[in-house]
Amino acid sequence: MTGMINSLPLDEFHRILDILQTIDVGLVVLDHNYQITLWNGFMENHSGYNLSQLAEHNVFHYFPELAEEWLRQKVEAVFTLRCASFISWELRPYLFNFPASRPFTGMSDVMYQNVTIMPLVSRHGDISHVCLIIYDVTDTATSKQALQEANQQLTTLSITDRLTGLYNRGYWEECLRNEFNRYHRTGKVSTLMMLDIDFFKKVNDTYGHLAGDEVLRRASALLRQIVRCSDMPGRYGGEEFGVLLTDINESIALHVAERLRHSMEKEVVIFDGQQIKFTISIGLAEVTHAQQSALHWLQKADAALYYSKHAGRNRVTTSRELSPA
Ligand code: GH3
Ligand code: MG
Ligand code: MG
Repeated sequence: MTGMINSLPLDEFHRILDILQTIDVGLVVLDHNYQITLWNGFMENHSGYNLSQLAEHNVFHYFPELAEEWLRQKVEAVFTLRCASFISWELRPYLFNFPASRPFTGMSDVMYQNVTIMPLVSRHGDISHVCLIIYDVTDTATSKQALQEANQQLTTLSITDRLTGLYNRGYWEECLRNEFNRYHRTGKVSTLMMLDIDFFKKVNDTYGHLAGDEVLRRASALLRQIVRCSDMPGRYGGEEFGVLLTDINESIALHVAERLRHSMEKEVVIFDGQQIKFTISIGLAEVTHAQQSALHWLQKADAALYYSKHAGRNRVTTSRELSPA
């Protein structure tokens, strides 16, 4: 720093110091021993320390949040390579742990910072100091984070069925196609389970549409409890659901399906003081090479489901039962 200021006329130097004191950017000058030689108004305001308290003190002593080893590496590189280095808030949210300037309007308690570390060349041409320039980027950081969160929520919304929280038909069909293609790539079997609530129209007619909605929610919750997350349960239509039982053949899937059928049968939905009971019918189809497409696979499971319906409902049918190999 002294190297810089010696070469300036005194009045110019004071003018520059005034500017440095008041600009809305943090300026810290450190010597090679990490002692503070300049600490501008921005830094005073946000840290509560002024230069007279900090001058000639080691910066790590007052600011333990600085991650000493990491920052030393960065600063040493600037001394050695004689070129500036930049630290983005995305890499490290902040260098100095300052509270956010507008914690009530913003979404963050801390001040996000971008930091440039500049080498300062003395009159003799060597690098005796570095200058840390600290930018408050809290607004940018929080709005970018809010945007990312909103995008995430939009993605979730666009693949989720509102009433049941399961995957919606569009996304679920995409999963079905992916699973079908995976089978052709890897040969790993999966079994598709289609299920449909029995006499659901009667539930609506007897207890009302809202009661019907509650039954759909309960049935979906049970479905989620019994199958694995990776099985991707989805709402295929009004009261029809599809589940991809990945890495499971038809015989094992039959156990899962029976467990599901039992738990639905036992369930009592209480709505408006009324007790509602319901059952489901299930069709299973293992993926095979004979199927031409994911749609063909789906048709096999659907045929098994409709067999369950015609055979009296509240039962499970496998596609093997319909067309034994
Ligand atoms: P089956 O045993 O043959 O499946 O008879 P079902 O009465 O369950 O089948 P059907 O297809 O005749 O009726 C399905 C009913 O599901 C008709 C429709 O009004 C109702 N439904 C579809 N979506 C919803 C929904 O989101 N909420 C409610 N409450 N009812 C719905
Ligand atoms: Mg039905
Ligand atoms: Mg139906």
